[in-house]
Formats: sequence, C-alpha cells, structure tokens
Amino acid sequence: MANVDMMAQEKTEPDSAEFSAQALYDKCVALSRNLWWSWHPDVLHLFRDLDPIRWRQLDHNPVVLLREFTPERLAQRASELVLYSRIQQAYRRLREYMQTKPAWGRTHTGVLGARPVAYFSAEFGIHESIPIYSGGLGVLSGDHIKSASGLGVPLVAVGLFYDQGYFRQRTDENGYQVEEYVHTNVEDLPMEPARDAEGKPITVAIETRDGTVLAKVWWMQAGRVNLYLLDCDVEGNNPQDRELTARLYGGDERTRIRQELVLGVGGVRALRALGINPGVYHLNEGHSAFAPLEVIRHRMADNGLKFDDALRETARQTVFTTHTPVPAGHDRFGPDLVEEHLGPLRDKLGISREQLLGLGRVEPQDDDEPFCMTVLALKLSRHANAVSSLHGHISRRMWAHLWPWRVEEEIPIGHITNGVHIPTWLAWQMRQLYDRHFDAGWIHRMGEAETWQHIYQVDPGELWETHNALKNVLLSFVRRRLTRQARRRGDSEESIDAIRYLLDPRILTIGFGRRFATYKRADLIFRDPDRLAAIVNDPERPVQLIFAGKAHPKDEPGKQLIQRIIQFSRDPRFAHRVVFIEDYDINVCRHLIQGVDVWLNNPRRPLEASGTSGQKVVLNGGLNFSVLDGWWAEAYDGTNGFAIGDGTSHVSDEITDQRDAESLYEALENEVVPMFYSRDADGLPHDWITRMQNSIASLAWRFSAHRMVMDYTLAAYLPAAGGLSRAMPSSG
Ligand SMILES: *Cc1c(COP(=O)(O)O)cnc(C)c1O
Repeated sequence: MANVDMMAQEKTEPDSAEFSAQALYDKCVALSRNLWWSWHPDVLHLFRDLDPIRWRQLDHNPVVLLREFTPERLAQRASELVLYSRIQQAYRRLREYMQTKPAWGRTHTGVLGARPVAYFSAEFGIHESIPIYSGGLGVLSGDHIKSASGLGVPLVAVGLFYDQGYFRQRTDENGYQVEEYVHTNVEDLPMEPARDAEGKPITVAIETRDGTVLAKVWWMQAGRVNLYLLDCDVEGNNPQDRELTARLYGGDERTRIRQELVLGVGGVRALRALGINPGVYHLNEGHSAFAPLEVIRHRMADNGLKFDDALRETARQTVFTTHTPVPAGHDRFGPDLVEEHLGPLRDKLGISREQLLGLGRVEPQDDDEPFCMTVLALKLSRHANAVSSLHGHISRRMWAHLWPWRVEEEIPIGHITNGVHIPTWLAWQMRQLYDRHFDAGWIHRMGEAETWQHIYQVDPGELWETHNALKNVLLSFVRRRLTRQARRRGDSEESIDAIRYLLDPRILTIGFGRRFATYKRADLIFRDPDRLAAIVNDPERPVQLIFAGKAHPKDEPGKQLIQRIIQFSRDPRFAHRVVFIEDYDINVCRHLIQGVDVWLNNPRRPLEASGTSGQKVVLNGGLNFSVLDGWWAEAYDGTNGFAIGDGTSHVSDEITDQRDAESLYEALENEVVPMFYSRDADGLPHDWITRMQNSIASLAWRFSAHRMVMDYTLAAYLPAAGGLSRAMPSSG
C-alpha cells in the first residue's frame, strides 16, 4: 500500500521538479549507493552510457563517475542519450524492490523475520569496484548475500574493510608476479558510517592483553541486505593497528589473528551496537570463529548462564561452513598468540587458559597441537557443512577424530553445494536470449529445473550466434589487456601491433582462470609440450588458450607456475596460441566465463572443495572440461560437458598427474576438438550445441546461489533459529 501511495504522489509532482537536473542527479546518486545496480545490467548500462570511456577507466565505479558530473552536465547527457525515462524507471524499481518482501522469503523464513541471520565472512566479492575480496570465497559471500536479498531471507552481513584490498597483479619481463597495493578512498565507495540508535557513528573496542584495538563500522547496502564492515584505521589506534585491516590476507600470523579477532568479536559487538539481535550466526569459513565466544559472553552476562550451558545454546544457533580440504588452508595459531588476544575475553568467560586452548584442538590436552580456527568453529557450532558432496565426504574423514566414537558416515558435517548468483554472471546477450524463449518472469524462477528446459526450444543457430558474439567480446577484451600489458612493459611497437592479429574467433578457445595454487595444476596441460603443440597448431582444427590468475604473495611455487605459463606463451611452439592476462578479478573472470568455448579445470582431486567459476560458464553456454572434483563430481552426467580422469586419484601425486595429463590429452584429441569442429551443412556444430543445451538445462538451476541459499535457509538457518527444519544431506 505504502508503495502505491508514494507512486501516486510522485505522479502529482510538477514535472519541472521531477525532471529538474538536481532531481535527476539525486536519483542517479541513490542508484549508485545501493549495490543492487551491480546485478541489474540495464541499470549498470545507464552508468556506462553516461561516459563509456571514463566508466572503463574508473573500474566501473558509479560513485566516482557521478562525482565527475555536475547535475547540469548529467541532464544534458541524459537528454542526448534519451536516458530520462530509463533513470526514472530504474529509480522506481529500486524503491519498489526495497519496499517489497519477495514471496519465497514471506513463506519460508518464519522465525528469521524477528531475528535475522548474521553472516560473517572475511571477504565479500560483490563487484570489481569494491576491492575487498581476493577470490572464490569472497565471490561466494557476495553471491550469497545477493541471493538472500533476492529471495527475501532476513540476513545481515559482517566483514572487514580493507583500504588496500588484495593486490593488483603485474608481471615483470621474466614473467614473475609483482604485487601492487592500491589505496581506495572511502569516499569512492557507496559506504557510510554505521550509526547507533542515537545516530552516533559506531566504534567498537576489543581488548587484548597488550592494549585495546578500535574499529569503526561502515555500512553498505546490497539490495535488501545490510553489509557492515569493520575498519581499524581509526584515531586512537596505534600506527600498527591502524594498518591492521589495510590488506586482505596480508601480514604475519599476529596480524591474522588480530584481524580475526576484529571480525569475530568486533563483529558481534558491532551488531549489538546496531541493535541487531541475530537468531543465527553463520560463520563462512573459520576466520570468524571467535564470534560465538563473544555471543557466549553476552549470554552469560544477560541470562546468568554458566559457560557450558551458554556454549550449548550458542552452538545450537551457529552454522559453520568449511571451505578447504587442504590442511594448510586452515588457520592455526600458537598458544601465546591466542592468550594475548583472547585472554581478556577468556577472563570474562571464566575459563582457564587450557580450556580455551582445548576448544581449538582435536586433542584438548595436547600442548603441541596448535589452536585451529576450524576446530574451534566445529566445536562451537551444531550445524556444520562442506561445500559439495565430495567435499562433505572428505571433511567428515578429515575431522573424524573430533568424534572418535562415531563412524565416518555419522560425523556431523553435511554438505550444501555452492552456487552462483545468476543475474550477476549471466551475460546481457544470453539474458536477452532467455527472455525471448523462456516463460515470462523466468528470472524469478531461476532456481527451478523446469524454467531451463526451454533451452531445447531455442534455435541452435541463435544460441550459437549469441555465444559467438560473447566470444568476440572476450577476444577484444583480451587483446586490449595484452596491449596494455605490452605497453607497460615497453615492448616494441611492432610486437604491440601484432596483438591486433592475435586470437581468432573461429578457433576453439579454452579458458583457465583461477588462483595459482599448485594443487590447481595450471601447467598440467603443458606436461607434454610437444603433444600440446601438435594439438593447438593443427592446421584444420587449431586450439587457443587464455590463462589468468594470481598467486598468493607468499606462494613462491604458485608464482613459478605463472612464470612457466608466461614462458610457454612466448615459446615459438605456442606463438599465437597461448596468452596470459594479468590481474584476474571479477571483471576479468566475467569476460572469461561469458566468452570461452571451454572452461578447463584440473585440480588434484579431491582438493577442490567446490569451485564456482565453472558454474558461471554454464549460464553463458560454455562447456566445462574438468577433473571430477568439487561441484563437477556431482554435476557431470556424460552429456553436459567433458571429464578429465575417472574420479580416482593415486596416492602418488606424480602418478596422478601423469594419468590426469594423459586423460586430458586424450579427451582433447578424441572428444573435445573433433566435436567442436564437426560442422553440418549449415556450418553449425550440432553435437556441441546439444551439449551446451544439456549443460544449461541440467546445471544452471542446480548450481545457482538461489538454490544454495534456499538450502541453507531450510536445512541450517531455520533449525538453528529453532524453527521448522529439513535434514541437511550428509552422506550422499
Ligand atoms: C568465481 C570466481 C572465483 C572462483 O573460481 P574457482 O575456479 O571456483 O576457484 C575466483 N575469483 C574470482 C574473481 C571469481 O569471480
């Protein structure tokens, strides 16, 4: 009702006011300040159209772009481009969006309405213009909150604000990674200080054994979800602590535990100061596992409970998602660091040093065992899950010794497979194709299988044409990036000129973009360079490869992998066939996953917990070519992509690598390449297009973030909040 009234009121406003330059400008600013724009391509295109060149130069940041306009110039530009009604309409849609509660949330979220989910994550990847993420984990958090917003799941998100974010990647003339840290001005982001009931900006204080750390709290809006970010760059902190949250995953162990203290304990205090009383705490990865300790403290103080009882009640409302089967991927700290940072809280909890340390150990009495954040999270939550079916099995085995009296199948770690936020990753051109052929309003049913069956009614020629348009967009993007890289390196004009002729849209194009961790084996395809050279240079059926990805600054072997790929890209055997583009981020990822024919993923099984980039590829018509690991182990059905290996691995890495490489080459030579180049009289690769349709129909809905958030809500959030429940799938 309120909604309709306001619209009616707006209509009665005199036109001059509604269309004044200032009013128009204000509407654009309002649009730029809710990240809702980032998953609505038509709204995003509005900003881009205002000044396409600056838009690109500014990393697609509408806040900065608008600052470069005066209201008058904006109005002029809007009239040249006939943008008035588009801006008005986008503004109305945002307002309507904010004032309505979606049907799914209305009918399924029950008790969460009164007490929302508090979702904790060390990083959020929402858009490339907000550099507070490093990779997969952050993008997953971003997709999670976007889907929570879309479905109407009551949820607030808590993270850290890093003014230098993760690093920007460059490579030197030897192909060695160089990290550049770029400072972001807070005025350039759609953030404001979070305020308490009296309107005062919130600062939280966290005591340690050697002083207090302060953090101010920022507020961002991602659709209906409020995101709160803690930032230690505050007056009153000593110079080191002011830098504490400057960089994502930077610094030493002490920096790390301090960041996690701020995220977990500071995060819970921030929610309190905001007057938010969550019904559920969701710890997305172990980084935030200190949060429940602070909740326990509140419970003891507010309700007079004993520690053990407060722990039990807190664990009941805590959901923990573990993300890595790689042992080194779990944070571990020595006892002194734990005591230094958790000591004051421990005093309030009334527990001994040994008791606290025991909570982070598999064997509480084992003084040699470091304090592990994953163990802490498992002990402080009653709802734990892995992120794919296979990862569930691995996690139950990995943590079985925490429940020595249980058989493996009964280890209480279930799984909810990751998914991606469709409106964020779906190319505009594909969106229009689906709009033409799917039922009206299909986007509201994107988590349902039936919605996607219509892909079989799409004319193969139309699907192929759309895919090729996207492939061309990708190849131009790659050439542009390669030109920029070459200029910066000071390459000759001649070689810069040659980039224009690099990459051919008729050639089968394989993409590989991800973190360069060694287990992901970016160089597996180069294991037999001559065999690969024969494949990519086949005169009738050539292949080209595009690589991108960052290595963690301290991961020397990862950096060497990058160097190796870059050296191959300069090797005459691979001239014109292999390229590496720098600075993999959300923007680079989006181009790659929207334009490749094939997405290659060959981790050493079973070390990929889930992976999500391949799910983004599905939506846009690309085919996955992957080891049967993570999500692909449960997604591949023989007709919706290609498999590497048979889902087994040898105890020897060397033998596993040898076998997987052999399988990769065989599949490439006998299956992938022939199918791509087998054309009918109409010039179309019909078998290939059928596979694209199979992939879209069978996978798009299942591996969507909407399906994922629905699963979390029904299988974890509602039970944790004490509402109706559904069992979380565990062994199978
Ligand atoms: C989706 C995404 C990832 C996750 O990729 P995986 O292949 O699943 O590891 C990492 N980084 C960025 C920027 C992404 O957009």
